[in-house]
This record gives sequence, structure tokens and C-alpha cells, in this order.
Amino acid sequence: MSTAPSARTRLSRKPARGAHDRETIDAILDEALVAHLGLAIDGLPYVVPTLHARVGDTLYFHGSAGSRTLRALASGAPACITVTLIDGLVLARSAVHHSVNYRSVIVFGQASPVDTPDERQAALQAFMDRLLPGRWDEVRAPTNKELLVTSVLSIPLTETSAKVRSGPPLDDEDDYSLNVWAGIVPLALHASPPIPDTRLQKGIQPSPVVEGLLSRHA
Ligand SMILES: Cc1cc2nc3c(=O)[nH]c(=O)nc-3n(C[C@H](O)[C@H](O)[C@H](O)COP(=O)(O)OP(=O)(O)OC[C@H]3O[C@@H](n4cnc5c(N)ncnc54)[C@H](O)[C@@H]3O)c2cc1C
Repeated sequence: MSTAPSARTRLSRKPARGAHDRETIDAILDEALVAHLGLAIDGLPYVVPTLHARVGDTLYFHGSAGSRTLRALASGAPACITVTLIDGLVLARSAVHHSVNYRSVIVFGQASPVDTPDERQAALQAFMDRLLPGRWDEVRAPTNKELLVTSVLSIPLTETSAKVRSGPPLDDEDDYSLNVWAGIVPLALHASPPIPDTRLQKGIQPSPVVEGLLSRHA
């Protein structure tokens, strides 16, 4: 499915790197662990790093019901969310052509509070599942009291864009003869062996769910 670009999501700079199809957009949203949520509060801009979770055509945010950012978002403040994955350093033969390979998404929209218990539960489970699939079933479920102080907000994925840079450095033709190493240094997020909590009950080993994280982020 492709979302037609709006006046805001049509790329003017390097449009060939842009995409508006949901397959590209969803894959980036689902892989990224962190989103940056931008909005104006009392006329001043704030960009706040936060977790996000996508379920179908909806992007969810959650946090303390007392969070200033979430309260502003819940009151209908227009938001701009960016999500970025870094795939590598692009080392060119000249300073100005250095770059990074990346996949990024921008989402524009206004949030709505998620009030129905089923949708709240599904959203909260989605947050955990995307960090560590299967973990929800291993841990204590949230109590009603915990749910009461948790704000869950949704933004529909209707006005979005992706931008992707991949491939080698793009040097000026004359520079290809320079004696300077050029190429890509791939970068990736990876997991290290789990470190047990100091207050862990004796004899508890990481579950297959936890171990699975190592193979997914090897
Ligand atoms: C990790 C990273 C590093 C970058 N470093 C630089 C840098 O150093 N200098 C630089 O000029 N640019 C950099 N970019 C590209 C930058 O994000 C912008 O795309 C670029 O600066 C053009 O900005 P613009 O406002 O002219 O975009 P326009 O093309 O005018 O933006 C119009 C619309 O296109 C979409 N769009 C634009 N950029 C993106 C994006 N990155 N992801 C998703 N949708 C997008 C949005 O919907 C936006 O509203 C970087 C991007 C990433 C992800």
C-alpha cells in the first residue's frame, strides 16, 4: 500500500531517495527502537526521544500520564515524529561527500488518547513484543492501578514519508584518482550477552525469549 505524498511529505531534496509505500515505512518503524517526537509546547519546539510501536495503520506512544509531552500530544498538538536507522558510514575521497547510509521515516499527525481497555492492552503488549517478542507472556501483567497512570496515544499512519540512502560514496569525478581510502563502514545495533540483575532469584537463567534477542541482534 502506498500513501500518496502530501504537500508536506513530498521530498524536494534528493527525491529519488524517498518512498511513500507502507512496506518501506513499516519496516523502518518496526526495526527502530527509538522515535523522536517533535511538537510545540507553549510556542516552543521540543523533540523528545521515546519508544513507539506500530500496530497495523497506527503508531502508538505511551508513558506516564503526568508526562508534559504526552499531555500536549493528547490535547491535539500537531506532531512530527522521526525514526532513524544508521546502516553505515560512507567515507568519501573528499570531506564534503562524506555521508551515512540510513533509513528514516517522518510521520505527521495528531494523536488521540487510547481509552478502550482492549486497544490499550494491545498497544502495551505491542511495545513489549517489539522490544522482545514473547516477553509479555513471561512477566507480570500490568495492574489496573498501573494502567490508570499510563497514557497511551495513537497517531494514524496517514501522512508519512521514508528516505533511504544506500550504496557507496558519491565523489566528484576528478577525486576518484586520489590516493585516499574510500568505501563504507557498515554499522549495526547488536546485543551482548545478558547481564543478570543483582537481585535475581537464585538459579534463574535467561529464557529462550531472552536468548533469542542475542541471535536477532547478533
Ligand atoms: C542520519 C541522517 C543524517 C542526515 N544528514 C544530513 C546532513 O548532514 N545534511 C543534510 O542536508 N541532510 C541530511 N540528511 C537528510 C535530511 O534528513 C533531509 O532529508 C535533507 O536535509 C533535506 O531536507 P529538506 O527539509 O530540504 O527536505 P525536503 O525534501 O524539503 O522535505 C520534504 C518532506 O520530505 C520528507 N523527508 C525529508 N527528509 C526525510 C527523511 N530524512 N526521512 C523521511 N522523510 C523525509 C518529509 O516528509 C519532509 O517533510 C540526513 C538524514 C539522516 C537520516
